[in-house]
Amino acid sequence: MPTNRLVKRLQGDDRVELFRAARASDFSPYFRVAESVTAPTVVIEGGEKIMLGSNNYLGLADHPAIRAGAQAALDKFGAAVTGSRLLNGTLDLHIELEKEIADWHGTDDALVFTTGYQTNLGTIAALVGPSDRIVVDSAAHASIRDGAALSGARIVKFTHNDLVDLERALSRPIEGDGAILVIVDGLYSMEGDLAPMDAIAALCTKYDAALMVDEAHSLGIYGPNRTGAAELFGVANEVDVKMASLSKGPSSTGGFITGSSDLIDTLRVQARAYIFTTSGVPAAVGAALAAVRLIRSSEGADRATRVLDNARVLREGLAAQGVEVGAPSPAPGGETASPIVSVHVGDDLLAVGLWRSLFDKGVFVSTAVHPAVPRTGAILRLCVMADHTPAQLAEVTEKIAETVAENKAWA
Ligand code: PMP
Repeated sequence: MPTNRLVKRLQGDDRVELFRAARASDFSPYFRVAESVTAPTVVIEGGEKIMLGSNNYLGLADHPAIRAGAQAALDKFGAAVTGSRLLNGTLDLHIELEKEIADWHGTDDALVFTTGYQTNLGTIAALVGPSDRIVVDSAAHASIRDGAALSGARIVKFTHNDLVDLERALSRPIEGDGAILVIVDGLYSMEGDLAPMDAIAALCTKYDAALMVDEAHSLGIYGPNRTGAAELFGVANEVDVKMASLSKGPSSTGGFITGSSDLIDTLRVQARAYIFTTSGVPAAVGAALAAVRLIRSSEGADRATRVLDNARVLREGLAAQGVEVGAPSPAPGGETASPIVSVHVGDDLLAVGLWRSLFDKGVFVSTAVHPAVPRTGAILRLCVMADHTPAQLAEVTEKIAETVAENKAWA
C-alpha cells in the first residue's frame, strides 16, 4: 500500500466520508443512475419519474430533428475528432455552427468550446489579468468564479442583483490602465431569477466597464429571437462578451462566446481551455447546430412560450397551496416567468428528506444545499420543460405541496 502524505490525506477526507454514508443509506440525491430518458419522464433505478430536475428546458434532447443532426454528423465524421481546434480538430461543422450562432446573435463572430465550463474558464482567464478588476455577482456560476480566480485579476463580488452594491464596486478607482470586467448570469441557475440587464448595462457604460453575461439558462427562452436575458432587456448590443452553454436549452454539449471579431480572434489565440483540449465531438456539434436552427424557427418560438407558460402554472399552483416559491422576475413590460422554480426549504437535511419522499412518489427534483447555496438557504430546484403536460404539472404540484406540508410538521 502506498503511504505518501497525499494518499493518506485521501483516506481521511470528511466530505468523502459524508458522501459514502449518504450513498450507503440510499438517501443521497446525488449520482442517481438513469436507465432511460424520454423527456419529460425518466426511468431511474427501475422506477419511472416525472423529470423536474433537468436543464432540457425546451425538450430537445430526444427531439427527432436534433437526433437526426447528431446522427448525420456521426455518420459523416465518426465518433471522435482526436485533436484540438488549433491543429486537426476543426471540422466544417464547427465553422457552420459558429456562423449560425453569430448570425443568430447579430455579432461579428462566435467561438465554440467543448463545454460551457471551459468556455467561462478559458474566456475570463484570457481577457483579464493581474492589473484588471473583475466585478462579479455573488451568485454567479462556479465556472465564472473559477475563471476569475485563474485570471489573476482582482475580484470584487457584489451582493446578488444589488445595483447599489454593484455601483459601489464600480466606482472604486482603478490604478493605471487596468480594465474592469463585470460578469453576471442572465438567469441564475439556483433561484431562477433574472439579472436586471438594462440597469447593469447602464452602470457599465457609466463606469467604462466591459460587460460579460452568461446566458446558459436563458438561451432559447427569452427575447424575440430567443438569444437570452440581454435581448429581453433590450441591451443585447451593449454586451461585450456573450457566453452560453449548448447543454441546456439546445440540449447538446458545448459552449460558445459571441461578440466582436477582435474578441473572438483574441480568444482563438489566447484561451487555453479552447486551445489545449480536444474539440467537440461530431455528434454533439451536429446536435447543437440542429438545435440552434430549431430554436430560431417558429417551433422554437412555440417551445419557448410553452416552457414559460408551464413554469407559470407550476409556480402559481404551488404558491396557491402555500408552498414558499421564488418570486417571478421584474422584466420589461411587467414580470416574467422562469423555467427554474425554487422552493425554499432552509435546512439541508430537510431538503434531502423532501427529495427522497418525492423520489419515492415518482417525482425527480434537484436539491441545492450548502455550499451551492448560502448556509440555511437549501432549496428544491424545479426545472420545467416545454413538454410537461397539464396532467403532469397538476400531479407534481399536488405531490410537492403534500410532501412539503407533511415534512413541515417535523421540521
Ligand atoms: N454557466 C452556468 C450558469 C451553468 O449553470 C453551467 C452548467 N451548470 C455552466 C456555465 C457550464 O456549462 P456546461 O454544463 O455546458 O459545462
